[in-house]
Amino acid sequence: MYNDFQQYLQTTLREIREAGLYKNERVIITPQSSDIQVEGGKDVINFCANNYLGLADNAELIQVAKERMDTRGYGMASVRFICGTQDTHKQLERAVSDFFGTEDTILYAACFDANGGLFEPLLTADDAIISDALNHASIIDGVRLCKAVRYRYANGDMEDLEKQLQAAQAQRFRIIATDGVFSMDGNVCPLNRIYELAQKYNALVMVDESHSAGVVGKTGHGVTEQFDLRGKIEIITGTLGKAFGGSVGGFTTGKKEIIDLLRQRSRPYLFSNSIPPMIAAAGIKTFEILTRDNTLQDRLHANTDYFVSKMQSAGFDIKPTQSAICAVMLYDARLSQEFAAALQEEGIYVTGFYYPVVPKGQARIRVQLSAAHTQEQLDKGIAAFIKVGKALGVLK
Ligand SMILES: *Cc1c(COP(=O)(O)O)cnc(C)c1O
Repeated sequence: MYNDFQQYLQTTLREIREAGLYKNERVIITPQSSDIQVEGGKDVINFCANNYLGLADNAELIQVAKERMDTRGYGMASVRFICGTQDTHKQLERAVSDFFGTEDTILYAACFDANGGLFEPLLTADDAIISDALNHASIIDGVRLCKAVRYRYANGDMEDLEKQLQAAQAQRFRIIATDGVFSMDGNVCPLNRIYELAQKYNALVMVDESHSAGVVGKTGHGVTEQFDLRGKIEIITGTLGKAFGGSVGGFTTGKKEIIDLLRQRSRPYLFSNSIPPMIAAAGIKTFEILTRDNTLQDRLHANTDYFVSKMQSAGFDIKPTQSAICAVMLYDARLSQEFAAALQEEGIYVTGFYYPVVPKGQARIRVQLSAAHTQEQLDKGIAAFIKVGKALGVLK
């Protein structure tokens, strides 16, 4: 039996390689940071981590995690409702609620699970989900697992959303689902207008703050801060794997009855292990760091503004961004790969994206800024972009 299957797998893998879509993992041999060493020993400046606030190697978080491991052990060996809940987990849920100004929070092993387990317990075939076309894969999967009627609107297109909401009046309950920041362009969802339409057409709103929390809004409290909608959105999901420390863990936060029902029925919560106490403790510390002052958020915003404006004045074609994602448009897939490889030679670590990750003819290099980047690192990055841009004929 395996022979036939093996041949099939080998063919599929060959097709992926021939299409130029095979993903090779690049190996890092230092902690995640703005300055990393890759296998082979080369030092590079990192512009492609989701380490927006530079907390992935933060000394305070490491210390808290170590201490909590000493006092509360290594792992829980249980799902939450059997014997996997410590006071630390409850305190982290409280900290997430306080950060977002919501009523209650439920933790998951990842935001992928939070989204995957969100819709099915709440909605039935009588209801509707209206989803942005560029939503994250985990939202798409979560929607697939649910029997609700599906509607889709073009990315950030409020006319289209309104049309879909009109069509969805046929259903009992409606929920609009959107990413806070879309990860390929760095654009923010127009949450103010989504909220208005939700009021007009009697819908709930769900926002995935994975790329926006810690980043967007004056104090990094996400899109609900940016649009002055704190406490008004029924469901927010997010991750501890990006700005909030870069480790692991996800959450859904919002109205207390929604969270309560998820605790009863959400499958990735009921049938998957608790996050380790050390991760929960470091999570609590992360929210403490972000609320005691605005140093990291301010630095991230200043770094992003600086990088984007320097790249624009150098003549690069930059997608309009309202986040810490800066898409340098090259349009050609091969060029995006050559450009990224040449940058790595210059000690700049980035990723080139092309179809099917982005639309055909929309190849780009996605730069992600971090509060951890120093002025010198930003300047080196910009200089390398200009040098390679000239060498490859992107800049005159
Ligand atoms: C990264 C990301 C996720 C997944 O988060 P994990 O905690 O790593 O599973 C979900 N949604 C969006 C929008 C993301 O960007």
